Amino acid sequence: MILITGGAGYIGSHLAMVLLEKGRDIVIFDSLELGHIEIINILKKYGNVKFIQGNLKKLDDIRGAFLVNKIDSVVHFAAYSQVAESVKNPQKYYYNNVYGTLNLLNAMIEFGVKKVVFSSTAATYGEPEYVPIDEKHLQRPINAYGSSKLTVEKIMDDYDRAYGLKSVRLRYFNVAGADSKSRIGEWHEPETHLIPNILKADETKIFKMFGDDYDTPDGTCVRDYINVEDLADAHIKALEYLNNGGGTDYFNLGTGNGNSVKEVFDACEEVLGRKIPLEVCPRRDGDPAKLVADNKKARSILGWKPERSLLDSIKTAEAWEKSLQKIKSGIIL
Ligand code: UDP
Repeated sequence: MILITGGAGYIGSHLAMVLLEKGRDIVIFDSLELGHIEIINILKKYGNVKFIQGNLKKLDDIRGAFLVNKIDSVVHFAAYSQVAESVKNPQKYYYNNVYGTLNLLNAMIEFGVKKVVFSSTAATYGEPEYVPIDEKHLQRPINAYGSSKLTVEKIMDDYDRAYGLKSVRLRYFNVAGADSKSRIGEWHEPETHLIPNILKADETKIFKMFGDDYDTPDGTCVRDYINVEDLADAHIKALEYLNNGGGTDYFNLGTGNGNSVKEVFDACEEVLGRKIPLEVCPRRDGDPAKLVADNKKARSILGWKPERSLLDSIKTAEAWEKSLQKIKSGIIL
C-alpha cells in the first residue's frame, strides 16, 4: 500500500484520485488542520481509501499508521506552505515541516520502508540567479518555508547514506487547476493563491494585483503554472522510478513557460466571460520577479511531460469553484 501524508489537501488528494482510478489501495494520513474531511469522503467513492487522522508531530500517530498497514512506499505532502506566514512564524514551520518529517522518516526506517516521494518546492532556490531554473541552480532559500523544505532534502540525503532510504524530491513551481471532473480541487482557508483569488473576485471582493513595476515585459511577476493533474502524474512516475530501483534524486516540476500575473488575469476574464474588478497594489514581500522551471531532467529521467495548458488549469479551477460552493453549502455530500 502507498501511504499519502496530507492526502486531504490540494495536491495530495489529486494524487490519491489518480491512484484510486488505477485501482491502487491507499492510506491517507492527515491531521485535517488544513485538509478537509469532505475531500476524504469524495475520494472514498472512487476506491479503497483508508483514512487515518493523525499528526506527524506525534511519533506514535505515524508509527500507528505503519503498524496496522502494509506500507511499501510513502508520498509526503503534509506541510505548511505559506511563505509570508513562515517569515512571521518560522518556529511553526520548522517544527511542523522538519520535526514532523523526521518522525515520518524515523517511522519509515523502523518499519523497513525505504521509498519516499517528497513535495519540495522552487522556494528552495531562493532569488533566482538565472531562469529557467535547472536543478544545478544554487539552493539558497529566502524564507523559512523554503528553508524547511531544503532542510528535509538534506536530511533525506543523510538518511540515504546511513539507512538506504531512497527519496525523490519534486520541486514544484506554481501549482494550478483542479480535477478535470470537478470532484476535488484547491481549497485553502484563507486563499492566498493567484488563480483562485482572481476567480473568487467580485464587486465586494476586488482582486488585488501585487505590483506592476517589476522588471518583466508587462511589469507583473512571471510564474510557471503547472497543472495539478500533470503534477499528480509526475508523482506516479516518481513512484515507478523508485520501484524500478531508481536512486535518490530531485526534479523540477514546471511547464518551462512563464506567464505574467496580467496574462493570467486576462485569461481568467476570458474563461469567465466577464470583467473582473482589479486593484493594483504594492508588491508583496519576498516575490521574485520571475520563476520559471527548466524541466528537462524530469522529462529525461522520469519520462514525464506536462500535457495541460494554463487555460486548462483556469477552466478546471473555475468548474471546481462551483463544486466547492455546493460542498460548502452541503449540496454535495
Ligand atoms: N498574486 C497577486 N494577487 C493575489 C495572489 C497572488 O497578484 O491575490 C501574485 C503574487 O504576487 C505572485 C503571483 O501572483 O506574483 C503568484 O502568487 P501565488 O501566491 O499564487 O504563488 P507563489 O508564487 O507565491 O508561490
